[in-house]
This record gives sequence, C-alpha cells and structure tokens, in this order.
Amino acid sequence: MKLAGPAYRQWEDAVVLISIEEGRRRVLAAVHALDSEDVPLPEAHGRVLAEDLTSAVDVPPFDSSAMDGYALVAGPAAELEVIGESRAGHPFERALAPGLAVRISTGAAVPGGATAVIPVERTSGANGDRVEVEETPEGANIRRAGEDVRAGDVALARGAVLGPAELGVAASVGRAELRCARRPRVALLVTGDELVQPGRALGPGQIYTSNGFALAAQIEDAGAELVLSDTVPDTAEATHAALARALETADVLLASGGVSVGPHDHMKGALRELGVEEHFWGVSLRPGKPTWFGVRERILVFGLPGNPVSAMVTFQLFARPALAALQGADPAAHRASATLDEAVRRNPRREEAVRVRLRHADDGLHAVTTGEQGSHMLTSMLGADALALIAPGDGEVRAGESVEVQFL
Ligand code: AMP
Ligand code: MG
Repeated sequence: MKLAGPAYRQWEDAVVLISIEEGRRRVLAAVHALDSEDVPLPEAHGRVLAEDLTSAVDVPPFDSSAMDGYALVAGPAAELEVIGESRAGHPFERALAPGLAVRISTGAAVPGGATAVIPVERTSGANGDRVEVEETPEGANIRRAGEDVRAGDVALARGAVLGPAELGVAASVGRAELRCARRPRVALLVTGDELVQPGRALGPGQIYTSNGFALAAQIEDAGAELVLSDTVPDTAEATHAALARALETADVLLASGGVSVGPHDHMKGALRELGVEEHFWGVSLRPGKPTWFGVRERILVFGLPGNPVSAMVTFQLFARPALAALQGADPAAHRASATLDEAVRRNPRREEAVRVRLRHADDGLHAVTTGEQGSHMLTSMLGADALALIAPGDGEVRAGESVEVQFL
C-alpha cells in the first residue's frame, strides 16, 4: 500500500528532491576505483584497460607493400629484370638496384634498396624474367614501418573500454594479456510479494518479475559481474536477511522496489539497520523519483524504484556511471545532445527522462519519443536508443530545440 492523497502530498513536500546532476555527483563522490588484474586477450571484451598500453613494436613492423605488383627503384618508365619474389611472410633476402624488380604481394616486406612498388595493373609484358613498368614516384604504395603505431607510443590509454577495435589494436602490438580493472561484483535483489518468475502461472494479484531480467542485462552491459540475484518477499525480516547476505559479497548492491513510504516498503529501514549510510533519497526525476543511494564502507547501495521503467532509467542515470567509474572508465561517456523532432511537454516540477529513438542527420543527432511514457509502460523502452533529459518547467520543449541525451 502507498500513501494516498494528502498523506502522499505531505511526503512529497517534506522530502528534499535533488537534481539528477547532484545525484550523480554524490554517487561518483562515493566511488573508489577497483583494483586491477591481468586478463587474457580473448577474455577482455567489454573490460576497461587499467594501464597505458605502450607498444613494444612498430606496426607495421617493417616497410611493406600496399599492392600486388613489383618492388623497384622509383624512376621513369623502363623494362626491368625480375630477380625474385617477396611474399607475405616470406621476404626476398637480397637488395635491389636500379634496373631490377622483385615481384611482391600485399603485406610482403619491401626488399632493401627498393624505393617504390608499382601495382601489377601498371605493368605489361611480364614473362617471368622481365617486366615493363610505367613511371613510378618515390615511396609509391609502400606502407612505412610504424605508420599505424610506433614502438614506444601509447596505443591504448588507461580507461579505454575494450571493444572490437581496441582488442584488434592490442593484438596488433603483440599483447596477449591486458591489465584490466576488476569487474564490479553486483548483487541484485528484486522485492515484492506480487512477483512471479516467468514460466509459472500467475495467481490473483501477481505479476511476472521483469526487473530482475532487465537489470541483470544492464549490469552485464556495464561490464559488471552479477554475483547474486534474488527475489525478496515484502517482510522486514526477509529484506534484512537478503540485504545482509548481499552486503557480504558485493561491490555494488542494487535493489528494486520497496524503497517508497508504504507500510510494506522495508528497504530503507533494513538498510539503516545494516549500517548503510544514506547519501540521498528522492530525485527530482520522472520516472524515478523514489531513488535511494547509500554507502557502507566501499559498498555502493542503490535502492531503485520498483516500476520497471523507473528501475531501468535510474540504473542508467545513477548506477551505470558508478559501474564505469569503479572500473576507471569515463562515467560521462554516454552523453550527447540531440535535436527534438517533436514537441515534448515539460513536467512542471521534475526533470523528465523521455525514452527516444535517435537518427543521425547532417546537422547531428535527432530524437523522437518512443510513444507512451508511463513508468509502468515497459514497452516504451523498446527501440529506445537514449533518454532525453527534459528540464522541468511550463509548456513544452518545441520541435527543433536541443536536449541532452544519454545513450542506453
Ligand atoms: P514498489 O517500488 O515496490 O512500490 O513497486 C512499484 C511498482 O513496481 C509496483 O507496481 C510493483 O508491482 C512493480 N514492481 C516492483 N518490482 C517489480 C519487478 N521486479 N518486476 C516488475 N514490476 C515490479
Ligand atoms: Mg513493492
């Protein structure tokens, strides 16, 4: 049960709601970066680099050909004597002189003495021993050693999130292991007597629990490790016991539901009993006002609202930056601005996180809403690329105006 009517109003007026920005500031102020560990390259996808990765080698390691053709000494059109071949992985061992050419494949080492490569399309009359070549400028079609990465250069900076390109670059400089931040260990508790696991039959008044699944996927996408996941009934004892267990194992504890002011909301009381110090409760945000954040030693505790959209939105706005910062990544990396392609009504009191689809245009990003925006309408998250943050006020933000967006 929730407070209704005047009682709810009283609560709303009594609680000092902080802004999203202030909430994030308090979250990030509580973050202590995690330690690091060596991770084999094939397991490093999605991890955050905890070292400046300095290359020990030049990439490419040697001057190599950009074309299939002939290595030669640059100069005017001529007929040259072909004295051998340089293939990828099998260099030609001798040096070239004017009047001589070496057949060469893309990626093969350019022989000593050669100053250019002529592509096969610009040659004629090749008969094994001789070839006629067109005029060739100095340096043509040679990829220089170190052109991509120079030995001694920082190829990837600390804090980089290791995606496909980063893993490729790390491999290209010959690294088999990378020093990465430890993945944050996250415990996830969803609370509510009404919750039933998908696959079972619903009884009267019951609903399927969706938060556990959506949040688990968000946790994984944030590079964190889900170490405990549990559904907790609405009793003080069960809430206390589940929180106590989660606090044993986690760097971050996420709970959804039960954090409001109804008689069956036990989260805040149990957290207080367990010595978790409140850093904020209540954000001037829609959806997601009843968001709680606290800290015990270095453990970050998020009490997210139970409403499925609110839970996902507040994860994104508060927990995800924390998970990035714990790993040494940029917590503000997923923000940009976009032009609204439709008018959006402002909420008079609270900042609104509107689910939007984005499209790239010549003048930057454009956003349209995903439709109905109720905090219980989980389908409003479908197809959403970002949250558009709409400042509170009267009237509407007009089409064509620019808003801050946070990518999902
Ligand atoms: P609460 O914050 O516990 O008051 O919950 C707010 C609303 O979210 C209620 O309608 C709950 O039934 C719903 N809710 C809470 N937890 C979940 C969940 N895990 N999955 C889906 N809906 C939930
Ligand atoms: Mg509940």
